[in-house]
Amino acid sequence: MRKNYDVVIIGGGIQGLALAYYIARDSSQRVALFEKSYLGSGASGRNGEMIRSAFGSRQWIGLWDKSLRLWENLAADLDFNVMFTRHGYLILATSNEELESLKQNLKTQHQFGLATSILDAGDVLRLIPAIGPGIATGGLLQTNGGFARHDAAIWGYARAARRLQVDIFPYTEATDIVVESGRICAVKTANGSVATPMVVNTAGAHDQKIAQMAGLELPTESLRIEIMVTEPLKPFLAKAISAPAMLCYMHQSARGEFIGGAERDDFVPSTSMRNSLGTTSAIARKYVRLFPRLAGVRMMRQWTGLVSQTPDHAPIIGPVPGVEGLLVSVAWSGYGFMGGPGGGKALSEYIISGKVPPEIRPFNLERFKTGQLVNEPAIIKKEHRGK
Ligand SMILES: Cc1cc2nc3c(=O)[nH]c(=O)nc-3n(C[C@H](O)[C@H](O)[C@H](O)COP(=O)(O)OP(=O)(O)OC[C@H]3O[C@@H](n4cnc5c(N)ncnc54)[C@H](O)[C@@H]3O)c2cc1C
Repeated sequence: MRKNYDVVIIGGGIQGLALAYYIARDSSQRVALFEKSYLGSGASGRNGEMIRSAFGSRQWIGLWDKSLRLWENLAADLDFNVMFTRHGYLILATSNEELESLKQNLKTQHQFGLATSILDAGDVLRLIPAIGPGIATGGLLQTNGGFARHDAAIWGYARAARRLQVDIFPYTEATDIVVESGRICAVKTANGSVATPMVVNTAGAHDQKIAQMAGLELPTESLRIEIMVTEPLKPFLAKAISAPAMLCYMHQSARGEFIGGAERDDFVPSTSMRNSLGTTSAIARKYVRLFPRLAGVRMMRQWTGLVSQTPDHAPIIGPVPGVEGLLVSVAWSGYGFMGGPGGGKALSEYIISGKVPPEIRPFNLERFKTGQLVNEPAIIKKEHRGK
């Protein structure tokens, strides 16, 4: 470990690792990244791997489409196969109101040049005949969306960052941040201290703890999500699918496993990492309703991940006013894997140039004081849960 770094990143998930990689690739700044456990041990190694930029607000489309474009060339850029499968991402509508709302989003998407189109119920069944009858009223298809292997993305970014001299320290917990006269000075870890003028909090569901080390409170809360994988099945689902009104999402891996999650309708906030039988059966019921052929299929594994989220469900990215040298990239909720390359790249541009790029400007921390919240219609929100 060196004594000084230009930038210290706390958290070895996709946001921290992507950021480290882009800073090192595009500048000569010396970067250290501390991860308290193994790389990808947080939500980045536990997610549903789904990728799209088909949202409804200009702010979300702007940032996530930047990310999708980076995903498209990521394997070549990192020289590591992240297994990005671009077979399309379908947002399934299960009511006429939902379909109308997807049509509204389409207008904004086309202003950004997104490859999206509206499907009627017949189109959906022709595209994916395995979907149960009478469920879909239609959908919105993004042809260049899809899914990637989350472990591969983590390993790819970590390996490429190390090649560029980023010092990555797994199993090294950041225990304190030293702030003097309103400026970042150093980070203390379980294995020693390093001096630095800049710290980036990419600690996922632990963002609040890191913020408090620098005397800051974030408007975030931790949210627990469960997911599961079935035994391998013959390929029948090439696309990634989410059904927002059913609070569920899924895809089929190259090995044939059906991977996805669903939330319980009687959602209860919790930070426990234990799986629950109630959620397991909720996921299974929704899977079988959507795909009747899954009845009787065996579940292989199930796990839980924690994400952080804000009141408007959008992330907070950029500098923190009042503490010079403190930055955050937190509260990515259920959309931070797909947003990893874009979030990392945009924040690296700020760190290198000192100018906040337009894609992350709306996601500043001050919005919770000024009331300029980001309203994104095409995501699962707190109010959808517990309905
Ligand atoms: C079940 C589930 C399904 C999901 N599905 C999708 C999906 O399909 N598509 C999508 O885009 N997103 C999905 N998400 C959300 C996505 O996984 C997250 O938004 C994203 O991974 C957040 O990345 P991150 O780097 O900010 O945080 P994390 O990956 O959580 O990384 C934070 C890291 O910080 C470390 N850390 C914390 N405190 C310290 C400390 N003091 N010192 C050092 N290190 C510390 C943690 O150990 C952790 O590794 C899903 C999430 C879950 C849980």
